Amino acid sequence: MMKARDIVRQVKTGAMTAKQAVRECLAQIEKLNPQINALLEVFEEEALARAARIDAKPAEQRGALAGVCVALKDNIEFEGHTMSCASRMLANYKAVYNATVVERLLAADAIIIGRANMDEFAMGSSNETSAFGPVKNPLDLTRVPGGSSGGSAAAVAAGIAPIALGSDTGGSVRQPAAFCGVVGIKPTYGRVSRYGLAAFASSLDQIGPLTADVQDNILALSVISGADKKDSTCTARPPFAAEDCKIQNLTVGIPLDFLRDLNPAVAAALNKAKEVLQSKGVKFKDISLPHAKYALPAYYIVACGEASSNLARFDGLRYGYKAQGARDLEDTYLKNRAAFGPEVKRRIMLGAYSLGSAHAQDYYLKAKKVFAVIRRDFELAFSGVDAVLTPCAPTTAFKLNDKNRDLISLYLSDLYTVPANIAGVPAVSAPFGRDADNLPVGLQFYGNYFEENKIYALAAALEGQ
Ligand code: GLN
Repeated sequence: MMKARDIVRQVKTGAMTAKQAVRECLAQIEKLNPQINALLEVFEEEALARAARIDAKPAEQRGALAGVCVALKDNIEFEGHTMSCASRMLANYKAVYNATVVERLLAADAIIIGRANMDEFAMGSSNETSAFGPVKNPLDLTRVPGGSSGGSAAAVAAGIAPIALGSDTGGSVRQPAAFCGVVGIKPTYGRVSRYGLAAFASSLDQIGPLTADVQDNILALSVISGADKKDSTCTARPPFAAEDCKIQNLTVGIPLDFLRDLNPAVAAALNKAKEVLQSKGVKFKDISLPHAKYALPAYYIVACGEASSNLARFDGLRYGYKAQGARDLEDTYLKNRAAFGPEVKRRIMLGAYSLGSAHAQDYYLKAKKVFAVIRRDFELAFSGVDAVLTPCAPTTAFKLNDKNRDLISLYLSDLYTVPANIAGVPAVSAPFGRDADNLPVGLQFYGNYFEENKIYALAAALEGQ
């Protein structure tokens, strides 16, 4: 598959038409999507019609993503199109407006090619909680693509779309990127508008792009980022500027106390990355993130709490699935809310429990205090280094159905990713090395607030090594 930036260059000069670019994606979809189930719906006619309109524009008016197909995670609003969050609850919901990121993609002449499968309401790490079937990893069909943005990562890895958008609340862009061998970023909280993203845990959610390489990721982030009056948590800063990504004079910290018992392939990749970067002049320092080990339990308390509150609106009366034949009010709730799958129900129950007045002191409020000390760990770390290097996930892509019966080990696959959401800092996952089964290993760089430029530069320095 061509890189997004090459498509743009060719479409802008007329060396290739946007229609040809769309046709290539459609051919790949036809070939691979039936097996991998990455896209839940393909907007074929519409994409071709849009491409024709872009081709009809004078060349100099074609935008920064002219002719580039984008797969949109199915929790981002695209007006007039179904947005199901891979749930029976919203199976028939049609978006009534565009998310800000969608507005920006369209203004840049990108072409939204379809809805990417995901874990139901973005809850999961393997894409197996989707109500519309799991996604299979295009690199090995017996394995999961990671989650929750598994469809987005698989679409890029399969050459279905050069860019996909995902959402990351605890690692859902980065971990699937690692499992599928692509690049994914969780931008600084507030870098990208959340307007039009179905909320999971609003204080942690960020939209981020997945691409085949770093350069394309930079291009995608520069289009979707920037101030937005419709999201009060969005930064007032201008969009991310690609020019600032330089590797000179960087110091990277490795938090040894947080990286115990690494899987051998992951440990080997980490050491090799250190050597490669050192050979390019990057300095390394051992650092400590003493409270990062508490990130995971604290995350699951806060994320479930916010989810139980955010998902309360789906009662079938105002929003969501409406069952037939309910006898009375209670029966209405029971029948309508039954449209949620088991993982979503579990989290709503856990969240409602930990937010309840009898328990909030012991769980939710304590977890928020843990968040504060983790944030302080990062602030201290970034007073001495420019970036922090960790693996993205403890393992490479595991087998489908493997972790279904052991939730704790599934939750543990977010061990290294959740601290970024808790601290609000950016983190990028990039493929580096392979394990004994030839599956990609993903490494992760954390950056200081709004310093995506540095972590992109580091990730780019590992490419092709
Ligand atoms: N896998 C994590 C979870 O299940 C993260 C999800 C996400 O980032 N949306 O909560």
